[in-house]
Amino acid sequence: MTEPESLHPPAVEPPRGRVATRALFLDRDGVINVDHGYVHRVEQFEFIEGIFDLIRAAGRLGYRVVVVTNQSGIARGYYTEHQFHALTDWMRAAFEREGGRIDAVYFSPFHPTKGIGPYRREDPSRKPGPGMILQAARELDLDLAGSLLVGDRLSDIQAAVAAGVGRALLLVRPPESAPADPPCPVIATPGDAIHWLS
Ligand SMILES: [Mg+2]
Repeated sequence: MTEPESLHPPAVEPPRGRVATRALFLDRDGVINVDHGYVHRVEQFEFIEGIFDLIRAAGRLGYRVVVVTNQSGIARGYYTEHQFHALTDWMRAAFEREGGRIDAVYFSPFHPTKGIGPYRREDPSRKPGPGMILQAARELDLDLAGSLLVGDRLSDIQAAVAAGVGRALLLVRPPESAPADPPCPVIATPGDAIHWLS
């Protein structure tokens, strides 16, 4: 005797509750803008070719775009948090004009030895620490394993690994200057990262 069909549970449970979102994590200096060193004014902010294409593609595919940036220039007293926020607002508006969107920006204003006053400290937010990425994951309900990070320094990649980001890419300009034994795939422009989105 065969059992009635209705006694068999469905093979796949439907998803319940919220489904975590994937993120594209971006370092700022050297990924979004040319790293001229302690960039804090609009006149110094030179977008890297391909970054608008990458952010538009990420948005189309449903990724949250999250900037995670060490800003030891604040710790060192070269510029203030207020100046950083003003430049960030300008940067986000520039992306919106180009049809892209940055969902969140996290920054670490600390430095363990060069910081002044309260900014002088070891802080888990400072890459290679995973603090900014983990905070973003909590606040934005992100699926880290399904996420991608693009950075231009090994400390970016180390932060991604420490946080459990599924894939990291090292942006090296020019590509000849790539480290001999990179810990992850190397790309030459931000636009190359589009192929790693899905
Ligand atoms: Mg950088």
